[in-house]
Amino acid sequence: MDNEKLEINRNNLNHRRKRIERIKMFIITFIIIFLLLPTILCLILFSKINSLEKEIKILKVMHDDEYDTYKDSMNSSHKDNIVHAAEKETVNHATQVNDSKEVSNESLDKESKDKDSVDIKKIENNKKVYLTFDDGPSIYTEKILDILNENQIKATFFVIGKTDSYSKAMYQRIVNEGHTLGMHSYSHQYKNIYNSLENFKKDFNQLSDLLYEVTGVRPNLFRFPGGSSNQVSKVDMSQYIRYLNDKNITYFDWNVVNGDATGEKLTSDKLVENVLSGVKNKKVSVVLMHDSPTKLNTVNSLPKLIRELKEQEYNILPIDQDTVSVQHVRAESIK
Ligand SMILES: [Zn+2]
Repeated sequence: MDNEKLEINRNNLNHRRKRIERIKMFIITFIIIFLLLPTILCLILFSKINSLEKEIKILKVMHDDEYDTYKDSMNSSHKDNIVHAAEKETVNHATQVNDSKEVSNESLDKESKDKDSVDIKKIENNKKVYLTFDDGPSIYTEKILDILNENQIKATFFVIGKTDSYSKAMYQRIVNEGHTLGMHSYSHQYKNIYNSLENFKKDFNQLSDLLYEVTGVRPNLFRFPGGSSNQVSKVDMSQYIRYLNDKNITYFDWNVVNGDATGEKLTSDKLVENVLSGVKNKKVSVVLMHDSPTKLNTVNSLPKLIRELKEQEYNILPIDQDTVSVQHVRAESIK
C-alpha cells in the first residue's frame, strides 16, 4: 500500500516537473520572440537607416547641387581664402594701377578718355567678380550667352559632357565669344566619379577629350561637383586634388552663391539680391550659378545683376590663369 502511494506521488512529481519544464520553455520562447527579435529587427533597421541617410546625402547634394551642403564650410573656410585672396590682390593692385595710368596717357580722344576714367576707377576699386555657370550646356546656354554678349561681359562656364549638336555648338560659342570654358566632370554622377580615383580619371579625360575635339581647346580649369570640400566622396578628396595638381589643372570653388540651387525656387530679384550681398566687401568674388533646364530665373536675373554690378563698379571678368584661386580645400595644402 505504501509502495503504491509512493508510486503515485512520484508520478505526480514527474508530472509537475514536466509542466514546469513546459512553462520554462514557453517563457524562453516568449523572451526570444518578444525581446530578442525586436532587438535584431532594430539593429537591421538601424543599419538600413544609416545607408539611407548616406543615399539622401548624395541625392541632396545632387539636387541642391552645391549650395546647401556647403554653405557652412563656406562660412568658415572661405574667410581664410578671402584673406588669402586679398593678400595676393594687394600685390596685383599696384601693377594694375600703373598699367591703367599708361593706358590713360595714350588715350587721345575724349570719348576713350571718359571710358578709361571709368575703367581706371574700376581698376582702382579692384573689386573683381567672376560669374560662373555650372552644369551646362542646357536649353538656356544660348540665352545666357546672348545676355553676356549684349552686356559685353565675359563669364566662366563649368560644363559637363554632352554630344548632341546643340551642346557642341554651345561649347564652341563659349570659346569663340571669349568666355572661359572649364570642366565640371563628364557624367556629373557623384556615385560614379567619387567612387574611385580610376572612375574620376576616366570621366575627367573623357570630358577633356570631348571639349578638345569640339573646340580645339583643352581646358585647364575644373570645378568639382559639390566642390573640393564635398562630403560625398568615398575617396579622400586629396587624391583627386593631387591628380589635378599633377596635371596642372586649377580647380575653382566659389565664395558667393546666387542661391539658385536651394530647394525653394527663388525669384530673379532674390537671386540678384543674394549675389549683391555676397560680393559686398570682397575683393574677389567667384559667384556660383547654374545653367540648367530648371534655372530659368537665373537667366532672367542676369540683365539686372550685370547692371547693378556695373553700377557699383565691379569688374566682371572671366576666370583666367591669373585669377586668384578660390578653393574650399587649398590645392597647395595637398602634397
Ligand atoms: Zn554641378
